[in-house]
Amino acid sequence: MDRIILHLDMNAFFASVEQASNPHLRGKPIAVIGSEERTVVTTCSYEARAFGIKTGMTKYEAKKLCPEIILVPGNNQKYIDTSVKIIGILKNYTSLIEVFSIDEAFLDITNSLTLFHKTENIARLIKKKINDELGLLCSIGIAPNKLLAKLASDMKKPDGLVIIKKEEISGFIKDLPVSNLCGIGEKLAAYLKTMGIKTCGELGRYPVKTLKQRFGVIGERLHNMGLGIDESPVVSYEEDQGVKSVGHSMTLTKDVSDINIIHKYILQLSEMVGRRIRKYGYSGKTIVLTIRYKDFTTFTKQLTIESYINNDLDIYFTALKILKSIKLEQEVRLLGVTITSLIKYYHQLSLFGDEDKKNIIGKTMDKINDRFGDFTITHGNLIMNDHSQGVISPSWRPSGVRRVEVK
Ligand SMILES: [Mg+2]
Repeated sequence: MDRIILHLDMNAFFASVEQASNPHLRGKPIAVIGSEERTVVTTCSYEARAFGIKTGMTKYEAKKLCPEIILVPGNNQKYIDTSVKIIGILKNYTSLIEVFSIDEAFLDITNSLTLFHKTENIARLIKKKINDELGLLCSIGIAPNKLLAKLASDMKKPDGLVIIKKEEISGFIKDLPVSNLCGIGEKLAAYLKTMGIKTCGELGRYPVKTLKQRFGVIGERLHNMGLGIDESPVVSYEEDQGVKSVGHSMTLTKDVSDINIIHKYILQLSEMVGRRIRKYGYSGKTIVLTIRYKDFTTFTKQLTIESYINNDLDIYFTALKILKSIKLEQEVRLLGVTITSLIKYYHQLSLFGDEDKKNIIGKTMDKINDRFGDFTITHGNLIMNDHSQGVISPSWRPSGVRRVEVK
């Protein structure tokens, strides 16, 4: 069935929110930065971009290019609040909304068209409402799928509206560089180039069998991307709200009292939990540790920390803190680690702190583990042989957002 997908991307989001809330900043080159000394530019206004200032530059580099640049410390809460207001506006047009990041969303508007007649009208209404109510501009792309809608929203900034119709797809993408497609990063594009593939057209024509041999399961996905095909559904905001916690538990093959071995199991569980919440872009601030003794007495203890976390080691160290507060009375039969108090897309804000590096390491591990199997790469103290010692709970699976209860 033909679908109509709309992708909305806010323009220079953090900087625009600052300019909208402070008239003194309007029309001026501003850069939103983190609060620490060695911080970088997370977003800058279009006025600043005219000087060549870009995301990722240090504030010294930015000042060199534009001495009058106004540096504004970022305010996560303000951007989250604005994002929630934008989602509220979008809800007037469809209930099928997928929040892709703090300033991007996909809408499936296939069934909204009887109400609003033309596709273009919906886009114009959304743009007007966001501008009237929040004083912000956005770019919108509309296409038969998410891949092309995102491509379309990227084509005109700021304040763009680009529509790709079904019959225009191949003409639209055949000469575009593959790196314009969401999901094909610099490294993959460089690798494809060594295979003689530079454009989407070339990718679509390349023998799918060879792509599969080179890239495994993503070979077929790449082939489809080259043809502008993307079947992935818009996963709605409502469904997303159902994810309240992610946890895993493990029954040990024999009862354990050695604290070092218990630490290793907790690290392994923390890696499993971390990997899955990162995959879906969540962070959480409450860790729950579950312990079952030899005689089946089971209890949980939780700890809520100040900041949202999603990386393995933060989860691990928080779980260890809980463990330290418990006096173990018997040998342990089962262990579980769960993260709750979840928030979506906090990882998108990580440029503000030093979580960034940890995130990158985490993401790289996830990629390699997705490709070659669980625990190909693990944190140092996790000794490979230990994996055979525990039975992973049946609820464990690397994908699938759903509530997972600790047994
Ligand atoms: Mg944006």
